[in-house]
Amino acid sequence: MERERNKMNIKEMIDEFLVCPKCKGKLEMSEINKATAEGNTYKSSILICRNCGVYYPIEDDIPVLLIDEAKTTDGIE
Ligand SMILES: [Zn+2]
Repeated sequence: MERERNKMNIKEMIDEFLVCPKCKGKLEMSEINKATAEGNTYKSSILICRNCGVYYPIEDDIPVLLIDEAKTTDGIE
């Protein structure tokens, strides 16, 4: 069965279009716990590049694929 383009979900879009800006490798979507200034924690989506061992934040549903914003995945599953 042929799939319609407009039925593509965010995960499929990431798989298809988003690559690591460093190595052009595949990115994997995941979540991390972040702390607010008030001390509460919340889930924040990230994109992991296993190849580089870094992750990129997703802010307001927009992936921030900037090498300067990449953070090491130490301590992240
Ligand atoms: Zn990479």
